Amino acid sequence: LASREVKPEPSVVAITDTVVIGGPEVIVMAGPCSVEGEAMIIETARAVKAAGAQVLRGGAFKPRTSPYSFQGLEEEGLKLLAKAREETGLPIVTEVVNPETAELVSEYSDILQIGARNAQNFALLKKVGQLRRPVLLKRGMSMTIQEFLMSAEYVMSEGNQSVILCERGIRTFETATRNTLDLSAIPVLKQMTHLPVIADPSHGTGNYHYVAPMALAAVAAGADGLMIEVHPDPERASSDGPQSLKPKKFDALMAKLRLVAASV
Ligand code: PEP
Ligand code: MN
Repeated sequence: LASREVKPEPSVVAITDTVVIGGPEVIVMAGPCSVEGEAMIIETARAVKAAGAQVLRGGAFKPRTSPYSFQGLEEEGLKLLAKAREETGLPIVTEVVNPETAELVSEYSDILQIGARNAQNFALLKKVGQLRRPVLLKRGMSMTIQEFLMSAEYVMSEGNQSVILCERGIRTFETATRNTLDLSAIPVLKQMTHLPVIADPSHGTGNYHYVAPMALAAVAAGADGLMIEVHPDPERASSDGPQSLKPKKFDALMAKLRLVAASV
């Protein structure tokens, strides 16, 4: 179902009347790794909107590598995201970590994110395939592109064709970055599938210094959008502070991004 041989023309995923992924506009989803409280999510939502982002991201259910790390505000976090959407008009994307809470998340969220750690959780993929919400599917950290597309098939074969693929870095021998953002996956996926493809240079690099150059490179490589972590006070973030941009740096990146997007 995802193959370009079957459907040659590119698919677009409409989130709202004006936010369309896979169309002519590069769509930027920005916000904190985790929703930490009302003031911070509303402040961040306003800042990313002012900079030109079209979607607010924020984790309420967090799939942490360690069970002792912050696990998210859960339903309270979803409510705060909905409040930030009311305040700013930005649609929201947040992660679903298990089939049991998928319906709850879909009551609040405009896009259901499947994280790298769940990219081959087939029960979860089938569950979101049965819901009527666009799905942002991240590439698992040790998945081939073929396996990534098979995960998209799990969602689509349940009836949900609104799938957005996200390259977020893979595990390699390199330790200078958290993951290795596989930029070549973008043109490869574009050739193999009609689905929109976005990139996440925040998780892809793990270091805020490298986020802007890789964001620009991803758009130059043909990405339909980006997911970028932005936090008002990264030093105090509950998760992923080292890779989070301060609003001012994000604003500067958005200005450069407009130049690159206009020339590809
Ligand atoms: C996230 O978006 O905060 C996240 C956990 O991403 P990934 O699944 O790519 O690690
Ligand atoms: Mn994160």
